[in-house]
This record gives sequence, structure tokens and C-alpha cells, in this order.
Amino acid sequence: MLSADFGNLQSMSEMINSSQADWLHFDVMDGVFVPNISFGFPVLEGVRKHCRKMLDVHIMIVHPEKYIERFAKAGAGMLTFHYETAEDPQQVINLIHVQGIKAGITINPDIPVSVLEPYIKQVDMVLLMTVFAGYGGQQFIEESYQRIDELKSMIDRLNPNCLIEVDGGVNIENAPRLFAHGVNVLVAGSTVFNAPDPKKMIADLKNV
Ligand code: ZN
Repeated sequence: MLSADFGNLQSMSEMINSSQADWLHFDVMDGVFVPNISFGFPVLEGVRKHCRKMLDVHIMIVHPEKYIERFAKAGAGMLTFHYETAEDPQQVINLIHVQGIKAGITINPDIPVSVLEPYIKQVDMVLLMTVFAGYGGQQFIEESYQRIDELKSMIDRLNPNCLIEVDGGVNIENAPRLFAHGVNVLVAGSTVFNAPDPKKMIADLKNV
């Protein structure tokens, strides 16, 4: 929803409710780990009141361990943190699961996929960033396909139930190839919200 109209989040929620979207993806930025600042708990709580889909919260913040309980209470169903921000990623995963919600881990495009190996068995999802975290509307990094393949073989070996999500530059042209490489969850921001008919775009992305 980074590309949604923030002046009208209720109608955005209603559009998502009546669409084929499975989840609503929230990008939380702190102005420290990433240069941009987006939104936090009050916005999440506000959207939670109207949105019936699972809230998939991607936190681009330092010290993620400090805020997990608040994100869970504000309505997150999946909470994904950056490996780069965690002193002890295993501890963060445990804290998320203690809240009774799903845990995801993510890395920026310049971090080797292999750093995730110790955590694959413990997480419900890996989010592979296909742009650098921090802004909406960026162009998909083509080298991401090799990274997805590497991650997919690691997941097949260690935890086949773990989902693969990609975030950044997803559009109707690259969606079929992403699914073919084993991606389960596509995050689409500007592709959906800048489309003439966002609901149709969601349906098209899901049925490529
Ligand atoms: Zn995101």
C-alpha cells in the first residue's frame, strides 16, 4: 500500500477486500535503516479496522526486536524483518512466533542469499528484495532471478513449506517468470495503484 492514496485509506481497504488480493503489504520505514519514512502503528491500526485481508508487514527499521509486540497488537498477521538490522535474527524470529503470528526474514539485493540458510527452517516466509528497500516505484533488478533460484533450492532442501515473496518492480511482464522460478507471493505497489483499474490489475497479476 506504499503507492496507495493515503488520503483515502478506507476506500483503498474496501478495494482490497473486494479484490483477489490475498494479503495487504505494509512497508514500514524508519528513516534510519532506509532514508525514507513511511508510516507506523496508527496507520496499521486504522487500516486493520477496514481491511479483511491478512496484513503482511515488512519492517525496514533498526532494532526490530523492540517493536514486534506492538506490530502484532496493531494487526500484523505476518511480520518480516531485515536480516541486516538484527543482531540476533533467531531471537527476532522467536519473538515474532511468541506473538502467535507468522515470521518472515528479508535481505536487500547486495546481501548473499547464503546468509539466510541458518534461519530457513524457522521462518514461514523469505522476502527477497528485488530493488533496494526504501522507496516505491523502482525498477526490478534482473539479476534477482539467480538469487530466487538459489533461495528456492535452499528452501526445497530445508523447509519446503516456507514461502518465497518478492518485493520491488513487480509488474504484469515479469510476473509469469517470477512464478515460474518458484515465487509464491508477489508484492505489487505502483503496478496496482497506478493502474487505471487496480482490481483488474490484481486479478491479472494473479492469473498470468
Ligand atoms: Zn515491502
